[in-house]
Amino acid sequence: MINYSVVPSPCYVLEESRLIYNLEILNKVQKEGGAKVICALKGFSFWKTFPLISQYLSGATASSLNETLLASQKMKKEVHVCAPAYKASEIGQILSRASHITFNSFSQWELFKKETLSKKVSAGIRINPEFSTVDVDLYNPASRYSRLGITIKEFKPELLDGIEGLHFHALCEQNADALEAVLERVEANFGKWIPRMKWMNFGGGHHITRADYDVQKLIGILNKFHKKYPGIEIILEPGEAIGWQTGELVSTVLDIVRNEINIAVLDVSIAAHMPDCLEMPYRPMVIGSDMLGIKKYAYRLAGNSCLAGDIAGDYSFDKPLKIGSKIIFADMIHYTMVKTTFFNGVKHPSIGIWKGGKFSLVREFGYESFRDKLS
Ligand SMILES: *Cc1c(COP(=O)(O)O)cnc(C)c1O
Repeated sequence: MINYSVVPSPCYVLEESRLIYNLEILNKVQKEGGAKVICALKGFSFWKTFPLISQYLSGATASSLNETLLASQKMKKEVHVCAPAYKASEIGQILSRASHITFNSFSQWELFKKETLSKKVSAGIRINPEFSTVDVDLYNPASRYSRLGITIKEFKPELLDGIEGLHFHALCEQNADALEAVLERVEANFGKWIPRMKWMNFGGGHHITRADYDVQKLIGILNKFHKKYPGIEIILEPGEAIGWQTGELVSTVLDIVRNEINIAVLDVSIAAHMPDCLEMPYRPMVIGSDMLGIKKYAYRLAGNSCLAGDIAGDYSFDKPLKIGSKIIFADMIHYTMVKTTFFNGVKHPSIGIWKGGKFSLVREFGYESFRDKLS
């Protein structure tokens, strides 16, 4: 249990034992499902933990040159790369570090085929199953007109020479039944090309470490696939499931203002430091709070920027909040620090790790970090 009173504010704090708990579940999937699980840096780039992660997982997946460099320098295992398009000026640097690369179109494959083959990087093609059970369009790679992956109509089997893998990604925070449904569509559309592949990448969005995720069903799906297509390696590349419920964002009440309701102004910004709350949108959980009307004291929790909508939501507490009260936002490790901004120059939360009953601060952001992002 983290002792939040010794954690500076604001700060993202990860509890190492919770990360290990997740990694053990993911490793079970690797062992019993015969799959490789790699960490999608897009959702989890907390690189101080990469030495630990690399003890369990098979590597990382990068979606840019920067993430490729981070994967190769800090994870030091397999480096998979998948991006909507690569730049000619960057592909050389990417290919000299990648073990696997996925192209999002046949035109990109043709453009970079020679260099990919000469550098002996295993190449794949991203396919679009045109089927997904993701409700929010912002997070649905298989929605109509999606640029992500090749549809069966645009698929050009005559250009597959040299391609060793197929990649699809059509899930978001979903259970194994959603994978089963998407895989069925993938096989219906692209099944005849699967046996000639060396690997299949089932993408991310598998919420494997969530309490109600059916890990046994996933392992069953993987083994069924192995039986049907012997010798083909399966890769899963979750991001969110790595950091799921591994830590919090600690913040402090700076002021309480009143405009019909009580509003607590915090030393963080929801827009800058928890952007998915406004993007998805969703109401973050605050430790010790409840929905409005359940507990006695009600507050709107709001950020320290000029954006009117910089609001986490309305909450109720057992005791009145005071200036200096700590507000702890739950589950704020994945997709937070990778997406933060320096909007308004609001102090960027530090990054820390709770391990063996002790807190260690691993990164602080001052004026220089803000200044050096600009010019
Ligand atoms: C976003 C993404 C992932 C990781 O998704 P999670 O929802 O974080 O598990 C993996 N692969 C691709 C191609 C992605 O775009």
